[in-house]
Amino acid sequence: MSTIAFIGLGIMGSPMAVHLQKHGHAVRGHNRSPAKARALQEAGGTACASAADAVSGADVICLMLPDSPDVEEVLLGEGAVLDHAEPGALVIDFSTIRPDVTRRLASAARERGLRMLDAPVSGGQAGAEAATLSIMVGGESADVEAADDVLGVLGGTVVHVGPPGAGQTVKAANQLIVAGHLQVLAEAVVLLETSGVDLARALDVLAGGLAASAVLMQKRDNLLEHRFDPGFRVELHDKDLGIVVETARSGGVVAPMAGLLAALMSSMVANGDGGLDHSALLRGVERLNGQTPPRPDTA
Ligand code: NAP
Repeated sequence: MSTIAFIGLGIMGSPMAVHLQKHGHAVRGHNRSPAKARALQEAGGTACASAADAVSGADVICLMLPDSPDVEEVLLGEGAVLDHAEPGALVIDFSTIRPDVTRRLASAARERGLRMLDAPVSGGQAGAEAATLSIMVGGESADVEAADDVLGVLGGTVVHVGPPGAGQTVKAANQLIVAGHLQVLAEAVVLLETSGVDLARALDVLAGGLAASAVLMQKRDNLLEHRFDPGFRVELHDKDLGIVVETARSGGVVAPMAGLLAALMSSMVANGDGGLDHSALLRGVERLNGQTPPRPDTA
């Protein structure tokens, strides 16, 4: 069993850190707002006042932070984790960030004698809580094998997809697919409701055919009840579609739907819905239809 530093104890990071602690690892957690370390402490883990403190004595350093600048700041900024980590420590970044930033950070880690994997996840809050995440891993094979005791605890599906950055590229593809799915689901819901069809019954039968999906299964109640407490915040999905568009552009890939979805998601942020769950794309479709979306019940 390892000593694990876990930095970023938000919606995803907190349940992941708790699972690792409950599986016998000693977890030293740090979060910018300290109150979020409470669940880890209740599970027997340690709350640390800084990232540098958390990594002291840690064999493995896990990150679950919002965006590329956050990961860069924690690894290389003031109190840099890469400068305070124990020699040979393995950094596992579960955050969804830009593949090019990941590649740069992996080389910075290597230059300091450390190892780094990108291991972004899919499965949402439900997957983090049930430890059934799908984890797309980029990095060296030996390092992926060394991470087995950690990744196996958190994931139902763990796949090594290629060299550093490859995990983030697969995650970008995942976010494109999920956004497209949510958008067409939202359009179908408005079509059904406007046509006077019983929405619950319609979704039941759709879920039994080719239109069935994990997205429909997980977001069904949000759509039916206009309940958009996150979950996965629109502003994070907006960030991810930015990554998709930039990655496609820099790779010379034409992906027209990606551009359209990025614009629709950005419009959600511009309309003040950035803090809602991404299933609130339904509100965007309602706005496009001249409807005033009901106030979301975020209780
Ligand atoms: P979140 O709830 O905002 O959690 C991020 C946490 O990081 C927050 O608690 C934040 O603290 C902390 N943090 C930010 N900067 C920090 C710093 N410099 N030092 C220490 N802690 C810091 O976000 P999340 O939903 O867990 O998402 C985390 C990552 O997972 C994102 O990259 C997201 O795209 C990805 N992801 C999310 C989901 C999902 O369903 N939520 C699913 C798959 C992947 P504060 O409380 O102070 O802000």
